[in-house]
Amino acid sequence: MEAFTLDRLRRKAEKIFEPSQMQTGRVLEVRYWQLSTLIEIDLHLPFADMQQWTEIPYIKFKVASFTYRDYTPSGWDAETCTCTIFIDAAHNGPGSTWAKQLKKNDTVSYFKIGTTHQVAESTSAVIALGDESSLGHMLALQQMVMPAARFSGAVVMGNDDHRSQFSEFFRSPLQTVKRDDAYGHHSLIQWVIGQQYTLENTVFYLTGNNIMVSQMKKLLKLQGYNSCQINAKGFWS
Ligand SMILES: Cc1cc2nc3c(=O)[nH]c(=O)nc-3n(C[C@H](O)[C@H](O)[C@H](O)COP(=O)(O)OP(=O)(O)OC[C@H]3O[C@@H](n4cnc5c(N)ncnc54)[C@H](O)[C@@H]3O)c2cc1C
Repeated sequence: MEAFTLDRLRRKAEKIFEPSQMQTGRVLEVRYWQLSTLIEIDLHLPFADMQQWTEIPYIKFKVASFTYRDYTPSGWDAETCTCTIFIDAAHNGPGSTWAKQLKKNDTVSYFKIGTTHQVAESTSAVIALGDESSLGHMLALQQMVMPAARFSGAVVMGNDDHRSQFSEFFRSPLQTVKRDDAYGHHSLIQWVIGQQYTLENTVFYLTGNNIMVSQMKKLLKLQGYNSCQINAKGFWS
């Protein structure tokens, strides 16, 4: 069958089988961090009711034919219906490929805005720990937590330039930690052990790759933290 006919059939199938509640938005700006493997995308999502975002949300974007990936909005403005997503695109995958080709004024499609059920606790110290893929999530948490509670934590990053760009361009109490192991948990564990956190009134938020999240959870439990003090959500494995 000719490529043209196949493409027409695929489009027809998409119209029939795609979720009926698909929504669209527009790309306002794309910023590539140096090396172009971390991509910051500003979006206008006119159909998103951001006033309802009381738990950290995620958006299920269509990244290819019948293919969807979750990304986390951060720095949102409910009045203008705008937000920013950060995509870690250092690996090969449909999500990475989609992010790398997005440009200003492109239309994006998504079929769901869900919740991670991570909600900012009214405790005195909120600590976020994650990797490049959860940078947006950690910045969303910062937006929800500050200034009511003390916010700190660390993001593990493999790239020297990314670490210095984060420190230079972001007003955030988050520190960057150099990733010396594949999933970053060894580096992050060393960093956490070096901190002087108290057992009371401290809540941790762990996000990023599954191995890192599960190993960090284990460490915190060994340190004496209660399960209710640890919010964990693995993003990929
Ligand atoms: C609730 C939620 C929110 C998320 N928010 C974000 C976000 O804001 N930004 C973001 O970048 N990601 C986010 N993710 C993760 C993102 O949806 C996945 O990483 C996604 O699998 C990447 O899609 P892909 O098509 O590029 O790669 P896939 O086809 O899923 O995977 C291809 C290969 O790459 C590996 N891989 C996947 N992701 C990474 C990575 N980040 N680094 C290295 N290797 C990887 C996989 O293990 C696999 O071997 C979120 C996930 C969840 C569940």
